[in-house]
Amino acid sequence: MSVQPAIFFGHGNPMNALQDNAYTQAWAAIGAGLRPAAVLCISAHWFVPALAVTASAKPHTIHDFGGFPRELYEVRYPAPGDAALVSRVQELLAPMPVLRDREWGLDHGTWSVLRHVFPDADVPVVQLSIDETQPPAFHYDLGRRLAPLRDEGVLIVGSGNLVHNLHAFAWGRHPVEPFDWAVRFERQARELMSVRDVGPLVDYESLGRDAMLSVPTPEHYLPLLYVLGARRDADALAFPVEGTDGGSISMLSVRVG
Ligand code: ZN
Repeated sequence: MSVQPAIFFGHGNPMNALQDNAYTQAWAAIGAGLRPAAVLCISAHWFVPALAVTASAKPHTIHDFGGFPRELYEVRYPAPGDAALVSRVQELLAPMPVLRDREWGLDHGTWSVLRHVFPDADVPVVQLSIDETQPPAFHYDLGRRLAPLRDEGVLIVGSGNLVHNLHAFAWGRHPVEPFDWAVRFERQARELMSVRDVGPLVDYESLGRDAMLSVPTPEHYLPLLYVLGARRDADALAFPVEGTDGGSISMLSVRVG
């Protein structure tokens, strides 16, 4: 069983699920080089006051957005669940209780990306919720505790956006130049990752105005902390996808290992 990397994907606009563009082509290229036994995905869009995993054998495709073309609602991503992975996640996080959720399926944070990474939907997928009641350090620690899954053939995926400010987003005016605060915060985050100075990334709320504007709400940022938590000393670090959408959405991907 081959050791797997952990990858944070900037998922951006849900329409990426359908589009053939520089981001989705890069996602496909990443997937072409991987053959994991399963995926554990931490998506920005399952941000709830509970720690839970998707436990159904056939998780349904959730269309958790409004106002998009009908064809986006017709997308199905029929990857199977993985009962053994659910049990392993519960073991690794014990004694913390991890609920087995049979109502949530795969949300668009997961399938808009995985549809390109593993287009045949033949890799089992389990989602882990982001417990919104917990501080950033908790999420980083969970990443550390889940890291052994990488040795068991499990690809740990975080799906969010390093910079995600929809108030500043320039709808319908593409392409636009990224905001200066978005550029600065992304650069700072990349530098901190490169020198393995993870403390400020966990404590991002202390990084000042650029961080506040880039991460006005935590849910799209926190999936990155799971990936950084799963990073090991020997792991290479790469940014296989780069770019900014609408001035205020960083599409950066971060790969460790
Ligand atoms: Zn999103």
